Amino acid sequence: MPIYEYLCRSCEKEFSELIRKPEEEVSLQCPRCQGQDLKRLISRVQFHLTESQRLEQYDPKAKPTDSFYRDSRNIGLSAKKRAQELGADLGSGFEEKLEKARSNPAKFINEKD
Ligand SMILES: [Zn+2]
Repeated sequence: MPIYEYLCRSCEKEFSELIRKPEEEVSLQCPRCQGQDLKRLISRVQFHLTESQRLEQYDPKAKPTDSFYRDSRNIGLSAKKRAQELGADLGSGFEEKLEKARSNPAKFINEKD
């Protein structure tokens, strides 16, 4: 379950929310001013890392932390790591799917259901 960080454009409060279903994000409100003009923030954790650095640091046996799930760019990392270890080629279709999932995780989760 992803936790996203948001910025309220009305009062500039930052807050984080656990999003279980894409519908929940649509009805999100700022906890301070109840405003709905929200911007999802990209987690600042590991923001500077390239994907190959992420792959290198990613340990499939380690329990992922909250900040790991908070960063949508970590989606698909475990599959990639496995493929890399096996020397398998995931193909360009996989990259494309991954891009979609990372740029709009809520939509991706929705489509999978
Ligand atoms: Zn607000």
